[in-house]
Amino acid sequence: MSKNKDFLRTIVEEDLKSGKYKEVVTRFPPEPNGFPHIGHAKSICINFGIADDYQGHCNLRMDDTNPTTEDTQYVEALKDAVEWLGFDWGENVKFTSDYFPKLYDYAVELIKMGEAYVDSLSEDEIREYRGTVTQAGKRSKYADRSVEENLDLFQRMKKGEFKDGEHVLRAKIDMSAANMKMRDPLLYRIRHAHHFRAGDEWAIYPMYDFAHCLSDYIEGVSHSICTLEFENNRDIYDWVLDTLGLKSARPHQHEFARLGINYTVMSKRKLLELVNSEKVSGWDDPRMPTIAGYRRRGYTPESIINFCDQIGVAKANSMVDVAQLEFCIRDDLNTKVPRVLAVLDPLKVTIQNYEGTEEIDAPYYPHDVPKEGSRKIPFSREIYIERDDFIENPPKDYFRLTPDQAVRLRHGYIITCKEVIKDPDGNIAEIKAEYHPDSKSGHDTSGIKVKSAIQWVSAKEAKTVEVRLYDRLFKDEAPEGLEDINPDSLRVIKNALIEPAVITEKPDERFQFERLGYFYADPLDYTDEKPVFNKIVGLKDSWAKKTKSTQSVPKPQVKKVQVDGEEASMDEVQQALFDMYTSELKLNAEVANILARDEHLSSFYKETLSLLNSPVSLANIVVNEVARELKEKQVDELNFSAAQIAELVKMIDDGTISSKIAKQIFEEMVQTGANPTQIVEDKGLVQISEPSKISPIIDEVIAKNPDNVAKFKAGNTKLLGFFVGQVLKTTGGKANPKVVNELVAEKLK
Ligand code: ATP
Ligand code: MG
Repeated sequence: MSKNKDFLRTIVEEDLKSGKYKEVVTRFPPEPNGFPHIGHAKSICINFGIADDYQGHCNLRMDDTNPTTEDTQYVEALKDAVEWLGFDWGENVKFTSDYFPKLYDYAVELIKMGEAYVDSLSEDEIREYRGTVTQAGKRSKYADRSVEENLDLFQRMKKGEFKDGEHVLRAKIDMSAANMKMRDPLLYRIRHAHHFRAGDEWAIYPMYDFAHCLSDYIEGVSHSICTLEFENNRDIYDWVLDTLGLKSARPHQHEFARLGINYTVMSKRKLLELVNSEKVSGWDDPRMPTIAGYRRRGYTPESIINFCDQIGVAKANSMVDVAQLEFCIRDDLNTKVPRVLAVLDPLKVTIQNYEGTEEIDAPYYPHDVPKEGSRKIPFSREIYIERDDFIENPPKDYFRLTPDQAVRLRHGYIITCKEVIKDPDGNIAEIKAEYHPDSKSGHDTSGIKVKSAIQWVSAKEAKTVEVRLYDRLFKDEAPEGLEDINPDSLRVIKNALIEPAVITEKPDERFQFERLGYFYADPLDYTDEKPVFNKIVGLKDSWAKKTKSTQSVPKPQVKKVQVDGEEASMDEVQQALFDMYTSELKLNAEVANILARDEHLSSFYKETLSLLNSPVSLANIVVNEVARELKEKQVDELNFSAAQIAELVKMIDDGTISSKIAKQIFEEMVQTGANPTQIVEDKGLVQISEPSKISPIIDEVIAKNPDNVAKFKAGNTKLLGFFVGQVLKTTGGKANPKVVNELVAEKLK
């Protein structure tokens, strides 16, 4: 069940309770005239999600009533998208075109009842006769045709005796209805066009308003859920079904707000324009807001579903910040994917006092308990670092390598710059450096203080890869069209370097390149000879500051920051805080940096610290969770207090709750202002650490997945994470990951 019960689920529950329907049947009814986009994902999640939640089913129905724009490639793309998101449409995909004969019969019935007529006005006349919002319309003189004449004309329309536009079939309702849609709506029009499924059999095609309600009825749909722009069409929906006397368990239409996202266009028409203009490489260009685009870029279905869940279902249209979608993918990948070292803009460093080679053992998941796995990183005299991780004349608070400031090589040693070699043009060509033998990460006895650790690769063993840096397709928050495209939305780096294990071990398809972002092995272009990686999303929102200040015109010149750019220097107070955080409280530089620079955040942190002596855990929650809230609100507007945060952290520290559950509790605190202890009690969220309780769950997961057990035993140790994940999922995240990890490893031995 989705976390929140929205108004649609409330309606569904009431209808089931009152016995209005025995089973919930929904449908997702796209027109196959383009690739589905993130808005469709919302509709898919709602329709399939509701069917799942109430043990009903959802049909995937191609609403293919317009032969001139539809195509089988779009049918396939729609099927792919639904499947990829993890939903199941049962036996068959449905097509409105399969109902053409039945729909025709219903139309004939309406004519016989005197409720529909063939009109022969021109398109312009029809529009003119319709009137305006303030002025009633006028009925066509053809509305008085006899039933016989109407039947004859309609049959001949079907046979193809007339040209496009010569006649239409209209419902005879009310030309002065307040709802303009009810002013004798069109039911059928003539189209001499080849239909991708029905072929040339039909010269007439039903209009949406006629076909949709009847298709729903034919399929036994109970809840016909669509977007708000169809609100006025609901009267026709009801009129058609009621007039035809289709009463028993007939479907009802319910509307919800359409999803809009900033920095993109969404309608299929505009997306088609992008494809046709060749500004993008196709519907699945990784910058497109299509499911196919997200998929190729490396988004996960989980992140998209999570996003749809977060934005919820409402009745009021609103614009969602694309940053929220990006947050969801980051959040999903953060704990899932291995972290590796890559260098996009290599600068050679020769370590003069190092001879030979060695291999450094480094975990793939340095921050996360439930996942295991490590690789060896080769280290040698010649390495590459990121060009902008060295500055000759650094600003005051530059944390990385300078002629006077040492830096740590991530997982490796601390190095000091000895000499800067330049080419004849004055560009830095190479750094001569020395390493400190007693400074190896994890065994550092050197006493040398550094402010950051940077990524690097060994020159000889590193593999060359192509990296495609994708960014938002539009530079404008509310783009009008092609002219608003972000010229930096794609940058290709042909000769990036990556540590060899990524290519030889292939521990995953998605990675965090440390300090650079999340990346995905391109599913189409990646080969062992030429590996290609797409940037999925950065590690943080590089657009956040820009959007606050520059909402509209004049359009900002977007300067892209690819690798962590320079930040403004810290003032003295901030610097002192930073030093205290890193040296006394042992916070890592990243966390200390965020705290030190944010006065409100650091004072909030200080308050929590005065209540609980757990500097690292508190800092993590403050920087990761509290900071998000403080971005939007003042301290006194927060729904929670420093004391409650301390209370929450205390429960993590003493093992009462897992840190995963803590996030969930925090969300609840934000929403309701409730006490963390109370939430844990009310919802039964206490962490499960007893092996006797966890063991049977593991056995169950093992029993359910014999294939994966076999694969694991055959050597695919990556699957350990799968089993741990399943167990955690089964317990709703309550199981102690460390205990689960140990037990699973033991059982699978
Ligand atoms: P577009 O305007 O992008 O072409 P559409 O509404 O014509 O979209 P359809 O293929 O007819 O797209 O729609 C299939 C289903 O998806 C409909 O029920 C529609 O309401 C829903 N849908 C389309 N766009 C969105 C959106 N942005 N947010 C939520 N649901 C959407
Ligand atoms: Mg449309």
